[in-house]
Order: sequence, then C-alpha cells, then structure tokens
Amino acid sequence: MKKGLFFALALVMVSTMTFANGKSEGSSAPKKQFATIGTGGVTGVYYPAGGAISKMVNKKYDTYHIKLTVESTGGSVFNINAVMAGDLEFGIVQSDRQTQSWNGTAEWKDKGPQKKLRAVCALYPESVTLMAADDANINSIKDLKGKIVNIGNPGSGNRGNAIIALENAGLNWKTDIKAEELKASEAAKMLQDGRIDAYFYTVGHPNGSFKEATAGKRKVHFVPITDISGILAKYPYYAKSVIPIKYYPNATNKEDVPTFGVKATLITSSDVPDNIVYAVTKEIFDNLDEFKSLHPAFGVLTKKNMLEGLTAPIHPGAMKYYKEAGLK
Ligand code: GLU
Repeated sequence: MKKGLFFALALVMVSTMTFANGKSEGSSAPKKQFATIGTGGVTGVYYPAGGAISKMVNKKYDTYHIKLTVESTGGSVFNINAVMAGDLEFGIVQSDRQTQSWNGTAEWKDKGPQKKLRAVCALYPESVTLMAADDANINSIKDLKGKIVNIGNPGSGNRGNAIIALENAGLNWKTDIKAEELKASEAAKMLQDGRIDAYFYTVGHPNGSFKEATAGKRKVHFVPITDISGILAKYPYYAKSVIPIKYYPNATNKEDVPTFGVKATLITSSDVPDNIVYAVTKEIFDNLDEFKSLHPAFGVLTKKNMLEGLTAPIHPGAMKYYKEAGLK
C-alpha cells in the first residue's frame, strides 16, 4: 500500500515535468519547463549576462514555471550551432555571427543559411580587443608578425574577428604569426606566464579576462586597431569602438584605445515555445534598470537600442512582448 502510494506520487512528479519542447505527459498541475542559455568563458561578459537573465526569470517561477539555467561555452559560434541543434534554447552571440549564420557565410558557408535562427534582442557593445605584453614590443597590429598570438578557440566569435583584423593589417594568421587557438579564459594566464605575446578577445568591457591579465607582474597594454576603413567598407556589421582605459588602471596605456566592434545579442530557435521566449524577453525589458545596474557594460542599454542590430527575424514570443509594450 505504502509502496503503491510512493509510486503514484513519483508518477505525478515525473508527469508534471516537461522540457523546452513543450511536450508534457498530461497533468493538470502547471508544467515545469526547462531552458538553457549558452554564454561564453567565465571571465567574459556573456556568462554574467546570462546569469543576470536567468536570475530574473527564475525569480518569477510561480508565474512562468520556467527554470532557466546558464551554461559556460566556447562562445558565439558554438552557441549558434548548439541552439540550431536543439541542445540549447538560447545563446548570447556576436551580431556579426548572427548575420553570418543567418546568411550562411563564414563558419556556415558549408552548412548554409540557418533558417531556424530567431532574434530576441540586442544587449551591449563588444570590442575586438588586442592585448600584448610590453616586453614583446607590439605597438600596432603589424608588430604581431612572428609573435605567439592567441586568436581564440574555433567555437568563439572572436577567432574570426582576429583573422579579419590580421588580414586587414596584411598578415596571414597561418604563416605570419604563431597562432594559438585556446579559449579566451586561458589567455590571461598564458600572457602572464610568458607563453604567448598577445591575445585577441571580442568582449564587453570591463571583464574578468583583462582584469586578470593586467593584475600580474608582466606589464601589459591594449594595442589600438586602426586603419580599419577596409573592414568597415567590406563588412557592414562592424563599427568603430573604443575601450575605456579607466576600467584597467594597471594597463600601461594612458588613453582610451580605438578599435572596432559588434554587439552582443540574444538568439533562440523557431523551435523554442513562444511562452518561454516571451517570459525571457519580458523579464529583461521590464527589469531593465535592475539589469543595467548589474554590469557596467550594460549601462548604455535602452529599450530602443536593444531592438537594433538584429538580422534574424524576431521570435514570435519576443514580438508578442514588444507589441504589448508598444515597442514594435
Ligand atoms: N564574444 C565572445 C565570443 O563570441 C564571447 C565574449 C564573452 O564571453 O563575453 O566568443
């Protein structure tokens, strides 16, 4: 009898659980839905951004019955592929990577256009950032010739940006530098340990990686990436940007550092149920002031600029919120 009751209870519990595909096993109790946001390395800004979003959604569990978790990943390219494969429901990705995957270019040249890709919103600006050790005599990107440079892991968004920046300076990443392809989360330590001369990272500022890199014994500085008119003319999704040096008092730069950049954006798939995307969108926008206070990189956000820089169609769940809020 007791055993029977236990099994009955267990059955009820299992049948109330459902995954992001929305399928439940039939129960009158509110069904619990799970979703995961793919972010980046733990010393980047995607990871805390994903954490902030999931916290806001999970706080409203009684309203939505959604449990949103965050996963540290290899970055933009990995996130897009995982969301398209149905392994993740959301991903934070660079705006250039969103455009490329939607159009079937760059890493998606062989796979073709990613038709299930859907945009939720834009987040904050990210800068293509190059940091070098002072003792390596690297004052412009051209000085990277012959140096050991981390361009980033293949799943990252920044690897492609590093290659474009090098090409623009007349350098072939395969032959002119000794390229390392490690995750950005390992790069700061590698620079401090003298195992690399410089590293590229496309990321919001401030972030843990460059704080770590500027906190060690080896003196380091940001290298300006200038003469980028060729990049801006060829690729409409890049824009000039500046790294505020005030965030890194231990870097040996004296002034803000010019470079180019993109926007971090939140993407999902057309397979993700509307109610989940609606909840995520609503919690970000309704709590925007709180969200902005969580990280200095989010300070520039407005409800208007969060709808700019998106290439993929807006997911219907997000659109429902934008219509309700009078934003679309
Ligand atoms: N932009 C980087 C990428 O797409 C990640 C930056 C971060 O994690 O903040 O790989």
